[in-house]
Amino acid sequence: MTATESNCIFCKIVRGEIPCKQVYGDDQILAFHDIQPVAPVHVLIVPKKHIATLYDATMDDAPVLGKMLAMAPGLARKQGAQDGFRTIINTGRVALQEVQHLHVHVIGGPDSLGRMIPRKET
Ligand code: AMP
Ligand code: ZN
Repeated sequence: MTATESNCIFCKIVRGEIPCKQVYGDDQILAFHDIQPVAPVHVLIVPKKHIATLYDATMDDAPVLGKMLAMAPGLARKQGAQDGFRTIINTGRVALQEVQHLHVHVIGGPDSLGRMIPRKET
């Protein structure tokens, strides 16, 4: 295990060292409720392998990344987002990525989420 993996909060969740409210798990992927939900449905889908950011993903990671996206609608529906949801991957400083382990946010609920990024006044 690298120093990064031993300190990474999502790696700790994957290893069962920190609890989570799991909604899905297989040999490659874990999905769990965000600890600070911004909407009634807010689930994080993470690869079990430590990939710090989308910048760090390679073509070898394409199958797991594809699986993470492909499972998002089913998870969203199961959690109660029947009429739409948003998937977000924050990457790096500009996007204010807080946890340096790649994750897909699945966010939804009965009400509209509003615009993804508010338009700047011109
Ligand atoms: P991001 O800004 O895209 O890196 O988002 C990180 C997300 O991880 C935030 O929405 C946090 O609320 C969430 N988070 C941080 N720690 C935990 C944890 N222990 N369990 C579940 N979600 C977490
Ligand atoms: Zn990690």
